[in-house]
Amino acid sequence: MHTSVVIHRILAAIYLPGQMVKDLLENKIEFLKGVGPKRASILNKELRIFSFGDLLHHFPFRYVDKSRVHTVAEINSDQVYYQLIGRVSDMRSFGEQRTTRITAQFTDATGSIELVWFKGLKWIKTRFVPGQQYVLFGKASVFKNHFNFVHPDIEDYSPQLVPVGESLEGVYTSTEAMKNHGLGSKQLAKLIKTLLIQVEQTIPEVLPEKTLFDQKLMPRATAFHQIHLPTNTQQLDAAVRRLKFEEYFFFQLNLILRKKSRQRLQNGAKFEKVGAHFHRFYKHLLPFELTGAQKKVIREIRHDLGSGYQMNRLLQGDVGSGKTIVALMIILLAIDNGYQAAFMAPTEILANQHYQSLREMLKELPVELALLTGSTKARYRKPIFSGLADGSLKLIIGTHALIEDKVQFKKLGLTIIDEQHRFGVEQRARFWKKTENPPHMLVMTATPIPRTLAMTQYGDLDFSVINELPPGRKPVKTIHLFPSQRLRLISFMKKQIAEGRQIYVVYPLIKESEKLDLIYLQEGYESLLRDFPEPDYRICVVHGQMKAEDKEFEMQRFIKAQAHIMVATTVIEVGVNIANASVMVIEHADRFGLSQLHQLRGRVGRGSDQSFCILMTDYKLSSDGRKRMATLVRTNDGFEIAAVDLELRGPGETQGTRQSGQAELKIGDLIKDEKIILHVRRVVENLLDADPKLEQADNKRTRNFFEKKFHQQFDWGQIG
Ligand code: ADP
Ligand code: MG
Repeated sequence: MHTSVVIHRILAAIYLPGQMVKDLLENKIEFLKGVGPKRASILNKELRIFSFGDLLHHFPFRYVDKSRVHTVAEINSDQVYYQLIGRVSDMRSFGEQRTTRITAQFTDATGSIELVWFKGLKWIKTRFVPGQQYVLFGKASVFKNHFNFVHPDIEDYSPQLVPVGESLEGVYTSTEAMKNHGLGSKQLAKLIKTLLIQVEQTIPEVLPEKTLFDQKLMPRATAFHQIHLPTNTQQLDAAVRRLKFEEYFFFQLNLILRKKSRQRLQNGAKFEKVGAHFHRFYKHLLPFELTGAQKKVIREIRHDLGSGYQMNRLLQGDVGSGKTIVALMIILLAIDNGYQAAFMAPTEILANQHYQSLREMLKELPVELALLTGSTKARYRKPIFSGLADGSLKLIIGTHALIEDKVQFKKLGLTIIDEQHRFGVEQRARFWKKTENPPHMLVMTATPIPRTLAMTQYGDLDFSVINELPPGRKPVKTIHLFPSQRLRLISFMKKQIAEGRQIYVVYPLIKESEKLDLIYLQEGYESLLRDFPEPDYRICVVHGQMKAEDKEFEMQRFIKAQAHIMVATTVIEVGVNIANASVMVIEHADRFGLSQLHQLRGRVGRGSDQSFCILMTDYKLSSDGRKRMATLVRTNDGFEIAAVDLELRGPGETQGTRQSGQAELKIGDLIKDEKIILHVRRVVENLLDADPKLEQADNKRTRNFFEKKFHQQFDWGQIG
């Protein structure tokens, strides 16, 4: 047995095990043998590995079986690892004054493949003996339509080198900067081996014994060993299962506890009565019959608001499903109960539009409302601030401007945030500080959140879903066109305009390349002017770099149907509601993400006319891009689109996760793990039902670990 293992066993026996372990796994990574300050800072920067524990959680992303020997003829995939046995020949040097590259051929009985080196060239030149056998291990890459190996691992052949029977080796994520400092996958594997020898005996168990037994989970320390150094596939699978279970377990524990503590708080504003405003609106002023789904959601929310605990609810409804009217009715409920309400939108255009439409719907009711955005003039701000502070102003609609400290309420009871994905948790939390008791929160989003994400990232929120569109809507027809079909597009647009319809033409605007994007927009606008000359046609333009009032002016031209075509950047992505617009042309459509495209498409199809979405792209498309276009053409179902989006981008990239402020999953896979997550959630709920504070002896270690992991008291009183 390794000496350090013996020492640690002895130490572990002397000290409290929990204590011992805490110290070891929290050791700074630079103190691990083979790391040191320089490599530590690289590990910090590149992989956010700061401690022994962090490195222990850097799991292989795949495994290779070193007992498997391939042949050159078998090589058929880019970025896949192969192990070959063969000879090295034909070595060639390239470069003017000095060698910058060496190539050679690696040959076995089935064929030859090129090897390439860019570094360590002096050594490579003398490394290989002609005729001798070598074992090559490396990732195949494609260069000019040929497979080759760049910097493969090559060792002198000996029979022991190729193990008999399964022999799995972990492959670790590493970056260019890491490789430059001797921290490639192989070296990481070595460091982790060193680490395991040092800490394995002291890795604490954190799940209750009973759970381990009931769920047939392997011990934690074994799982860490097996995931890095698997004995065989079965052991590896068991390790993965155990570690996933643990990860979801604490995730769910955290979310369920948040939810429970909120329910316990009982300090929400109580909206008990259904008062005059609500009644009058419902009986006489509703502009249309509510859909069943809208009614259901209003009931759910009313139930929450009357319960006495603070509501934190996510209202999900596809674009055009009619979330605004739901918001309005809830606002009336707040006002009827003597509270103020705030309604926040992500853009000025949208805030403006909400203001206009709410004001219109409320014109028969004595409700004071105002609009506050970044461009609200100082002389209008003063009365708004004082109205909110003295309580005479009941409803404020606006942008981020609403969360500024200057905005103080007399009695804020309800906050509605529209198009949630633009706001982070942090911004939501700022409303809490505006009154003594946190207001009820209703977060509305059209971005469908897949079930697994909902259960992990938003598991502390309650959910309502509007799963029905207002009657009479026809699904938008989506068509993907290429440059050669532009003439067809133009005649189609003219036909639509002749029928009285209006058209959006949208250009991508991505921050990093704003200048270029504006050029696209400008060129597009000019060519549209040629194809749709005045005075027969009128075109307006809206983009992010215009002044708010100019934007508003152009928007109004379109709303009032004084312009046939609106050329815009993605400022119109969310919420804009113009029923007569029936065609959405998206230029460079492949530069948008799926959910963004779905949002944009949602701007049309709001009236009863057949609407169209035209996706324009180049012929050349990435395979991702092609898949995105095909998905949109195939389906209008936001959930299906969200699922493809999650698959293409990975959960870390979807908007929901990035802003959720939750820890990332280390081993869990939201795309594949729905079943496990559901199962673990039930396990955790049962555990808490039986022992709400985890006080039983067997549950104590779980509680301790939880408190440390989330830096939270188990019994917290306040949540953020
Ligand atoms: P979103 O959920 O995307 O915010 P909106 O609230 O903007 O959707 O509603 C989209 C359009 O549908 C609006 O023009 C709205 O007036 C209309 N609408 C909403 N609910 C209904 C309904 N129950 N019946 C008919 N039209 C409705
Ligand atoms: Mg909306």
